[in-house]
Amino acid sequence: MKLILLGAPGAGKGTQAEKIVEKFGIPAISTGNILRAAVKAGTELGLKAKAFMDAGQLVSDDIIIGIIQDRVKEDDCKNGFILDGFPRTIPQAQALEDMGVEIDKVLDIEVADEAITKRMSGRRVCANCANSYHIEYKKPAKEGVCDACGGELIQRKDDAPETVQARLVEYHEMTEPLKDFYSKLGKLVIVEGQEEVADTTALVFKALED
Ligand code: ADP
Ligand code: ZN
Repeated sequence: MKLILLGAPGAGKGTQAEKIVEKFGIPAISTGNILRAAVKAGTELGLKAKAFMDAGQLVSDDIIIGIIQDRVKEDDCKNGFILDGFPRTIPQAQALEDMGVEIDKVLDIEVADEAITKRMSGRRVCANCANSYHIEYKKPAKEGVCDACGGELIQRKDDAPETVQARLVEYHEMTEPLKDFYSKLGKLVIVEGQEEVADTTALVFKALED
């Protein structure tokens, strides 16, 4: 099964990707996590990406497409994968088609901008393993500490309110047209992103059954 998760930044793609990983045993490929790992490791890729990411702007298509090209060839992708955060532009989607990757479904998680702004301000991520939490909706057992690895929970620079606004503008302009792209290919399924994570997960699983 090859899936794409679409949706605005903060719509909960990463969280739902984790649920699909657990249920179907296919890996989730998050371009955001790959980039953040590269920034942390100080690689050439990381150096190139950092300024764009901190400003809430997209990293250039050719860099991202190169990452995905390599990643989907890896062994663990044999039985499928979930793309979380890719494609984000029409050229990226076109590149995926050109690679011959046959996507089964594209799930678009819909959340209104106001709800997103609220969610993102409370998001915290583990500085060590990138697990994601929320100060209201997904609290760790111990405040400020990652349940999975004990790492420190921090706010991502790009989750600051001004940057969130910039990311939403970019989402509507660059990424939202992908809905039309995949709808024309008959692959788009809209899922309403509910208040409760579990409710959205139920809708996601339902969408994958049909
Ligand atoms: P979100 O939490 O908003 O879904 P991600 O963690 O997926 O964000 O991505 C964080 C940042 O990484 C983006 O704001 C962008 O700068 C960069 N990025 C991630 N994926 C892509 C992509 N497919 N194309 C361009 N830039 C990307
Ligand atoms: Zn952690």
